[in-house]
Amino acid sequence: MPPLKPYEKDRNLLSPNRNIAPITATVNEQGKLCIGGCLLSDLAKRYGTPLYILDEESIRTSCAAYRESLDKFYEGSSLAIYASKANSSIAISSIIKSEGLGLDAVSTGELITAMQGGIDGHSLFLHGNNKSQEELLIAYNNQATIVIDNEQDINILEAIVPKDDKKAKLMLRLTPGIECHTHEYIRTGHLDSKFGFDPDKIEEVFYRLKDCKWASLEGLHAHIGSQIFELQPHQDLAEVLVESMLLAKRIGHEIKDLNVGGGLGIKYTLSDDPPTIQDWIKVVAQAISKACQDRGLGLPRLICEPGRSLIGSAGLTIYKVGSRKIIPGIRTYLSIDGGMSDNPRPITYQSEYSACLVDKPLEPPEENVTLAGKHCESGDILFKDLAIPHSNFGDVLAVFGTGAYNSSMGSNYNRIPRPAMILVRDGGSDLIQRREQPEELLRYDVLPEHLRALM
Ligand SMILES: *Cc1c(COP(=O)(O)O)cnc(C)c1O
Repeated sequence: MPPLKPYEKDRNLLSPNRNIAPITATVNEQGKLCIGGCLLSDLAKRYGTPLYILDEESIRTSCAAYRESLDKFYEGSSLAIYASKANSSIAISSIIKSEGLGLDAVSTGELITAMQGGIDGHSLFLHGNNKSQEELLIAYNNQATIVIDNEQDINILEAIVPKDDKKAKLMLRLTPGIECHTHEYIRTGHLDSKFGFDPDKIEEVFYRLKDCKWASLEGLHAHIGSQIFELQPHQDLAEVLVESMLLAKRIGHEIKDLNVGGGLGIKYTLSDDPPTIQDWIKVVAQAISKACQDRGLGLPRLICEPGRSLIGSAGLTIYKVGSRKIIPGIRTYLSIDGGMSDNPRPITYQSEYSACLVDKPLEPPEENVTLAGKHCESGDILFKDLAIPHSNFGDVLAVFGTGAYNSSMGSNYNRIPRPAMILVRDGGSDLIQRREQPEELLRYDVLPEHLRALM
């Protein structure tokens, strides 16, 4: 059973990433689970299942924790930017905007979503290891900062940026060569990574950019990976970034921004023990400050770009329990009405989660089940071993910590429509992404004439 109470009561210490459930989770007098003042079983009836639920207060609390900790622990200016690949929508972008954060995008889709949500160019950053001309042009036209990842970015920009117009604002991503303990697929900072410039190359790139009249190199960036619980790699990163800033300055670049990336982990299961947002920022801020001081450099603007730790713990997914298959002496499969199409993380990264029955969140477990999705894939398993009270057909089950990298990494596998997403707050709920309808899945299908003739 996940702890339902906030880890810390003091708002200044409240760090939603350390809670399995959203921070507004409560159990009512009937022993039923509520989030954001809404009874989950009511939400299942009203919106159907599977359903993604986001708790607005958890998102805003995380934004405030980033913003306020940066103010408190860093003497220079600072900006937290939301890595929107974690969960991208117009409504989420507008919350981010209203909290005064910036936003990271990696594609035209993420860029236009952010802009529709009110994010303006000067707080928008474009990432990517293979940006298209279209993506670069949209970013340039909106005066977003372009995080150059390789020579190709520079080549394309050189060809498309008008010589006598505003300069392209650039930040350079480097591969810092830092190892950390996380899943291989989400590790990005070690030298053998597809992202960023090799440290041996950056001097040459700094010289090349010095001659580019159409560009101004304003910042340096590195990101070491995701779902990280250690603080040491981020301290090491500060040294690498500040050393590179010194080099860039010697070559003549006015580096204003240092961007330390994201990566802070969240609590998916009881054994996960991530640092608080406050502690993470404190360590990063102090490391950057010290590295600058040691070299007699003024403080740059400190940027960080959290994704998972900003929105992961604000989300949960509710499903209905369906068929049950008992294999005596081996296991009991309990199937739900979603699976790998709405949460591909278990099959992709062997990720673990916590879950409960929404109307019996505090009751002791009575059986061990393997919770299976409904897709045609034996690996479509959300939990290998889940200890829960007995459930019946139609009971509603919640899986926590699905606010990041679930909807955004989801698919239509088996032509299963994408779930709706709602935002809960103060006892009310609002739809922020409507449920996809099966007929809508056919909208891009085209039947060629010669096949039509055969029908
Ligand atoms: C994915 C990503 C992030 C966010 O990572 P989280 O682990 O979700 O905080 C930040 N910056 C870059 C460049 C990324 O690719």
